[in-house]
Amino acid sequence: MHQTSRILHRSLSTAYPTAVSAAGCYIRDSAGKQYLDASSGIAVSCLGHSHPRMLDAIKRQMERLQFAHTSFFTSDAAEELAETLSKSAAGGPWRVFFVSGGSEATEAALKLSRQLQVERGELKRDCFFSRWYSYHGNTLGALSVSGNRGRRTLYEPILVGTVRLVEPCFAYRHKHTSESDGEYGARAALSLAQAMGEHQGRGISFIAETVVGATLGAVPPVRGYFKSVRETCSLNGAFMIADEVMCGIGRCGSQFAFEAEGIVPDMITLAKGLGAGYLPIGALMVKETLAEEIRRGSGAVQHGHTYVGHSIAAAAALEVQKVIAEERLVERARLKGDELQRRLRERFQNHPHIGDIRGRGLLVALELVADRRSKTPFPAERRLWAKIKALALEEGLICYPGGGTADGIAGDHVLLAPPYIVSDGELDEMVDKLSRAIDRAIDAG
Ligand code: PLP
Repeated sequence: MHQTSRILHRSLSTAYPTAVSAAGCYIRDSAGKQYLDASSGIAVSCLGHSHPRMLDAIKRQMERLQFAHTSFFTSDAAEELAETLSKSAAGGPWRVFFVSGGSEATEAALKLSRQLQVERGELKRDCFFSRWYSYHGNTLGALSVSGNRGRRTLYEPILVGTVRLVEPCFAYRHKHTSESDGEYGARAALSLAQAMGEHQGRGISFIAETVVGATLGAVPPVRGYFKSVRETCSLNGAFMIADEVMCGIGRCGSQFAFEAEGIVPDMITLAKGLGAGYLPIGALMVKETLAEEIRRGSGAVQHGHTYVGHSIAAAAALEVQKVIAEERLVERARLKGDELQRRLRERFQNHPHIGDIRGRGLLVALELVADRRSKTPFPAERRLWAKIKALALEEGLICYPGGGTADGIAGDHVLLAPPYIVSDGELDEMVDKLSRAIDRAIDAG
């Protein structure tokens, strides 16, 4: 812990422990305390920490080539990574535009989709569609399409004006008891169809997290929902962007979460697990046919950043892909995810304040409620989620709680997204520590 700090920390009233080392699923601080990383930071460290193959691969690339700007050169590492990602995604071939994180991937997707509309002569298309309760990043463009009230409010007057937010697909809170999943999915998808109808000829693209991550807490769509919104996008000439920054790269038990929905988006955004925390890297994947439209049209992507395609980051991400494939970690994420949900149900299914246990693969969450029957959330002022986070840290557990789950303001959830290498013993430890943190936070009032 640094008593005085020149860092403009996220919170200016928090004394952060100093992380000094990490291995496997644990991070150690300068006082020697061990923390079980039950959320991979924020769904990043999918291989765990200090994976020997990652350290070797980064060192090898570091000694060979570090930086060669992409306006002059390409690199073997970036080329091989793009090829690997293209082969791993259904509906390809794909072209990959590398960036340094998730927000940059969203920016690239929004701008490239506008560029593509212009290449097609659709100059009047000026409108993006996205969903309430979503999160796509913190730059102004990405925040403009993010439906999380807490993160938007301060910046509302300066966000992009031509964004239309539509209903999410959130069965626990929005599905009527009389509805089947199919009926609810169709109703949730109608919200996009109506909005696109009201902005006929103006839609550029629709962006959605395939499985909603941080803002609602691991919410998978109901079956059929994404088929409907995919159709709506196609009918209206708008591109569909699957935000797989959190739910992709095996996190949900398939390489990409959209595979389970039986659809192929036009673009995919990636980050987090792509570099697995070893180096910052994100990516925008676009269908080869769309890249071809640009090649035949203006010939160039009208977007870029200095560190696009950084060769060490690319080499790290390539090694992540190799480790995931060789150690069969996508399958492991699916199996361990089932194990985690089973343990959570055993521990919490009769807990008076756990309303829902949900997720897919190793993206799992608990939603807390004051009353289970009515699903009434705790008052927002209690900031229960923040208390759970602090108490979990005290217990030696890193998890990712969030607020605003029920209506954008009230509601609390805890997201768990451990590394894919997590053991059964670590799952037990996770559930024990989380259970203590939750009960202590509730008792604290
Ligand atoms: N998209 C999703 C679904 C995310 O969860 C996040 C970050 O949490 C982002 C985009 C933004 O990514 P980054 O923080 O790397 O800019």
